[in-house]
Amino acid sequence: MKKIPNVTIQYNQIVQDYLYNKAENRIIGVELKTGSLRADLVVDASGVSSLTSSWMNKRGISIPSEKVDIDLSYISKQFELNNHHERDWKIKMIYPNPPQEKIGGTISKVEGNRYIVTLMGYHGAINEKEVLKGDRGFIELSKKLPILDIYQEIKEAKPLSKTSIYRIPTIIWRRFDKIGNLPNGLLLIGDTICRIDPVFGQGMSIAILEALSLQKLLQQHKNELHKIPRFFHKKSASIISPIWNMVITEDYRYPATTGKKPYGLTLQQWYAKNIFILSSQNQDVYDNFVKVMNLVSPVSSLMKPSIIKNVLTHAFSKNSKS
Ligand SMILES: Cc1cc2nc3c(=O)[nH]c(=O)nc-3n(C[C@H](O)[C@H](O)[C@H](O)COP(=O)(O)OP(=O)(O)OC[C@H]3O[C@@H](n4cnc5c(N)ncnc54)[C@H](O)[C@@H]3O)c2cc1C
Repeated sequence: MKKIPNVTIQYNQIVQDYLYNKAENRIIGVELKTGSLRADLVVDASGVSSLTSSWMNKRGISIPSEKVDIDLSYISKQFELNNHHERDWKIKMIYPNPPQEKIGGTISKVEGNRYIVTLMGYHGAINEKEVLKGDRGFIELSKKLPILDIYQEIKEAKPLSKTSIYRIPTIIWRRFDKIGNLPNGLLLIGDTICRIDPVFGQGMSIAILEALSLQKLLQQHKNELHKIPRFFHKKSASIISPIWNMVITEDYRYPATTGKKPYGLTLQQWYAKNIFILSSQNQDVYDNFVKVMNLVSPVSSLMKPSIIKNVLTHAFSKNSKS
């Protein structure tokens, strides 16, 4: 960023309010602790706790939102692993198989022999009081994972940090694309629009896809800045929609998940489950599945005829055996 001549970065600045021209329903800048900044276009990239929602609520602008309660806890701790054997991996991820399993985990190399271990549990599966009872509490919790790879690594490891907890009770998609009287001159991006279930690791990719589409719009409409927010919010909705749908399809496997269910949920869950199982047996399905999960390919690539045929064959042979 420092190499781009017309970009100035100011650190340690907190945006406290918007500068607003009510007559024109236009955001004309931001109020900082240390003064104010005027702008033709303000981009709010301040994340899920952005002040925009409460600012709009105070002015009677309601934001249609999709909310899903997932009651998710992330518990993290750093460890130094022993040097007893060579490790041929940098990260291991263990996903729960819902609805029976509610706890997943990751272990990731940082540097040296330091590793960050994160355990995540849906719907109260993690007893936070127990986990916070000394270092052993965290290690004992790792025994509850569907497989014991992480427990085997940390059972005799040296804890390097305190145990940290982060809670995500609800995921939310704020539909700025559906607001008729959205103030002009304001554009929202990233988690400000949508906080998705982080277990699937797609939030940053969504933000990047949105940033790329904003770049394109800025190039296409250099002299028509006023058009950009509307075009952008429409585009961001089309980026988020298939991913949101894919993620909540999984979240709703837990009966305790509440919110607005997508149409055809049962069929989608059935299809996704078969894709998941097939991806461990079929290279083509695996390659397509990984590309979709990492947002490299659209979800529709899992609906191509050869994959549908594989899913049906798999389901049919499973049924015929049962
Ligand atoms: C526990 C957890 C695990 C995750 N794991 C993954 C993962 O593995 N992969 C993945 O892709 N995504 C993951 N995500 C999601 C990812 O972190 C977010 O999607 C991503 O950070 C969103 O980027 P953003 O720039 O929109 O918002 P943020 O990263 O939230 O950045 C917003 C910034 O704005 C600043 N800010 C806020 N208010 C103000 C203000 N008033 N004035 C000035 N500055 C302000 C904040 O300090 C912050 O620096 C995870 C999220 C969580 C919570």
